[in-house]
This record gives sequence, C-alpha cells and structure tokens, in this order.
Amino acid sequence: MNKYNKDLTIEQNFILNQEGTEPAGSSSLNSEKRTGSYHCAGCGKKLFESEKKYESGSGWPSFFQSIPGVFETKTDNLLGYERTEYHCKECGGHHGHIFDDGPKPTGKRYCNNGICLIFKPKI
Ligand SMILES: [Zn+2]
Repeated sequence: MNKYNKDLTIEQNFILNQEGTEPAGSSSLNSEKRTGSYHCAGCGKKLFESEKKYESGSGWPSFFQSIPGVFETKTDNLLGYERTEYHCKECGGHHGHIFDDGPKPTGKRYCNNGICLIFKPKI
C-alpha cells in the first residue's frame, strides 16, 4: 500500500483502503461525457477508456470493460450476499464491484466509485 498517492482525501482513503462506497449520485463523473481516460486516484494507472463508459442509472460511473489486466478481483460478502470486488493491481486500491447486468458485448458492469477515478480528457 505504500505506492499510494499521499495527497488522497479522507474519502478517497476510505474507499481505496477500506473498501468503502461513496453515496450514489455523488460523483461528478456520472455525467462525464467527454472523450478521455480514467485513471486510479491511488497510483495514476489508466483503468478505463471513455468509450467503455455507459449510463447504468445506478448512480455510480459504470463501464462495461476495463483496460485488460489492470484489476484483480475477489469475492466479498459485506452485504450478506456475494459480490465481486475489484481492486487496482498496481496499488491494491479498491474501486468497486463487477455485476453481470451490463450491456453487450461483455455483459459486465464495473460499478466504480467516482472519487477513486481521475478523468483525463483527450486533448
Ligand atoms: Zn492504483
């Protein structure tokens, strides 16, 4: 965990290090429509491309595919049922959960805490 960006806020730390979840609808990235890429707030690694983002209506930034190989997953039971948690392979920071109700072609929904992402618009 010592690869962490030391300028993280309390909220970012809570989610990345303690598998917290931000309130639904709280992230400005929900409405981000520009072309660009989404990076880990913990270490800066590129995690998603804007082309893979979609509006899921969940209140969290959602993607149907990540950059290949950037995440590791594990199953958690925090809410009393099994969910697949994913975290950044580079720094270990928790980002969100993967669900099977996403759009084609993957059918996956990466439900990501917006506060853990840094959007870099394509110039
Ligand atoms: Zn990271």
